[in-house]
Amino acid sequence: MVTAENTTAPDTSNRTFVKEVAAAIRMNGLEQIQEDYIRYDYEKGEIVGACAIGQAAVNLGGIFREQPDYLERQLNQVVLENHPLNYWECPRESCGGRQHLGQLITHLNDYHFWTFEEIADWLDSISE
Ligand SMILES: [Zn+2]
Repeated sequence: MVTAENTTAPDTSNRTFVKEVAAAIRMNGLEQIQEDYIRYDYEKGEIVGACAIGQAAVNLGGIFREQPDYLERQLNQVVLENHPLNYWECPRESCGGRQHLGQLITHLNDYHFWTFEEIADWLDSISE
């Protein structure tokens, strides 16, 4: 039985959620940016750039598109059957960082400049 305070019960639906987010990050079309979820071009009247979370939020639509930070917070809750902790070690070699999943995606995007494809590949690898 897992009793540590930084763990929650694994939810099998989370694997599907992570895979959906990975697929939504792969749906390209936006320039990848750092330090913000979404870049809106007011002259063009459209979204022109996004970080990995922002791109996933735009492609998933609905509440996530309206509030990309909500998507990050939802991802921060994720635990998986094979990973019953709600934090993850940064997959970048020798980084050593540990963060909740949503924060880690932002970290990979903003600090390690991982591409959408690399982030989506990693999400797929943890949700096999
Ligand atoms: Zn890192």
